[in-house]
Amino acid sequence: MTRHAVSITEVETSQGVYPVGEEPYLLTPGPLTTAVSTKAVMLKDWGSWDEDFKAVTQEIRERLVSLCKGEGEYDCVLMQGSGTFSVEAALASFIPKEGKALILMNGAYGQRSAKTLDYIGRDYITLDKGDYLPPMPEEVEALLLENPDVTHVVVVHCETSSGILNPLKDISDVVARHGRKLIVDSMSAFGAVPLEVSEIPFEVMVSSANKCIEGVPGFGFILARKTALEAAKGNSHSLSLDVHDQWVYMNKTGQWRFTPPTHTVVAFLEALHLHEAEGGVAGRLARYANNRDILVSGMRELGFETLLEDKWLSPIITTFFSPADPNFEFGRFYNEIKSRGFIIYPGKLTEADSFRVGCIGLLDANVMEGVVQAVKESCDAMGVKTFAPPDGVK
Ligand SMILES: *Cc1c(COP(=O)(O)O)cnc(C)c1O
Repeated sequence: MTRHAVSITEVETSQGVYPVGEEPYLLTPGPLTTAVSTKAVMLKDWGSWDEDFKAVTQEIRERLVSLCKGEGEYDCVLMQGSGTFSVEAALASFIPKEGKALILMNGAYGQRSAKTLDYIGRDYITLDKGDYLPPMPEEVEALLLENPDVTHVVVVHCETSSGILNPLKDISDVVARHGRKLIVDSMSAFGAVPLEVSEIPFEVMVSSANKCIEGVPGFGFILARKTALEAAKGNSHSLSLDVHDQWVYMNKTGQWRFTPPTHTVVAFLEALHLHEAEGGVAGRLARYANNRDILVSGMRELGFETLLEDKWLSPIITTFFSPADPNFEFGRFYNEIKSRGFIIYPGKLTEADSFRVGCIGLLDANVMEGVVQAVKESCDAMGVKTFAPPDGVK
């Protein structure tokens, strides 16, 4: 996959000459490696009130609704800030002050939702599965039976801190059967893992520009039932994060309430067109799953072990245990790999040393083979001879 689709090769800047497309590949779950055309459309400045920019906003909203097949019943609201801002906006706007949430946690992003509810003062209970075990539908069911006052269930689709793909469909079925409302943080999965409202009739779904759609950072998006958007009036503690207000204003004026990240927004529209050209969600899933398969089999051949069993591995990001070999040191490993053209991600487990390698972004089989080779060369350079984790970490 070439990143040199256009004739720009160098741009002179006050920070030096930028060689376009020669930066390291980002094997991180956003920001990630994007297409040259996605970067190129940011070379133009846009007026946020202008009709041309309003049309961009509107096309993005429609395309996102259509990605979840929510035409008619659902609408899309765009929100400034990183993904966390949109999660906070959604939790505050859709869970009424007298509501109560059940948060399914198995990593950092579930924990962040709980912390957010502490800040905004909403009642909640949790199902905490630790670092890497999935919340199971039977457990969710038992908690819903015990807690009839729970109004909303909050679940992370792919928990990016371990890379686990949680059993969303089964959880959604239980939540629907018990008449509660489902809020999905599908930040790192939407656009690459199917999420259609006929299958998973969520109340609210949150994702952001710089994950599987392969845009650049700067805003998030919320897909929600129109009935939920109507009912959200007056719930938010925050003016800037009020999803209802943003929705009403966007529908009325075609504009964002406050300054939008214009360059990021036009880049995202380009990214959505590239997503469609690749075959939409199915096309993207196929490429990312192949990326993961090449990565995991290559790393296992070297002797590395994954944190998760195969059935829980997502096509988004994979956690590997750090080798027990005393010559392994993550800081040095990171720099060795970076010098070979790849940026990886530290681990986020509480109990064992680990690192993560992402499969999302404009990466293909060649890149994934390259990263496995870079891991091998980096370990050789460090004098690491065996790749197995310490005994008993699993
Ligand atoms: C990336 C991500 C977020 C948002 O993180 P930001 O750093 O605020 O963009 C939230 N949830 C999940 C599961 C994520 O992967």
